[in-house]
Amino acid sequence: MAIRQIRYSDDPILRKISREVTKIDERTKILLDDMVDTMYEYDGVGLAGPQVGVLRRIVVIDIGEGVIKLVNPEIIESEGEKIDIEGCLSVPNRIGKVKRPERVKVKYLDENGEEKVIEGTGLLAKALCHEIDHLHGILFIDNMIEEVFTEEDEE
Ligand code: ZN
Repeated sequence: MAIRQIRYSDDPILRKISREVTKIDERTKILLDDMVDTMYEYDGVGLAGPQVGVLRRIVVIDIGEGVIKLVNPEIIESEGEKIDIEGCLSVPNRIGKVKRPERVKVKYLDENGEEKVIEGTGLLAKALCHEIDHLHGILFIDNMIEEVFTEEDEE
């Protein structure tokens, strides 16, 4: 396991479309584990392939309820609306309000290639949408309704 280098918002790789994973092999599993390590190292709640320079449809999420590893995630249902504040490891020092669905259902493959469906509300819905956006080259600042400024000198 290893910490991967995070790509920042001016890196063109973050604007590219990630490709589907056709075979989950040892390299995929190492990548997933590295992404989990990297997410924890930087105190993130989620991380997507392009953020570590890999244009593959791979996402890891932990909103404090344990890690979820998603291969080829796809939103199959969404409902409602919620405006909440977001940030991103690839867009340091900026946060802002983004409108997301209140509830989403996402289809994906787990690390063993088994098809799963996860349903998320609140923070999990927000994280799923945010990370899946990364796979389409979309950053939260693209959909930001309003930037939120905090005190510079706060920790
Ligand atoms: Zn992000």
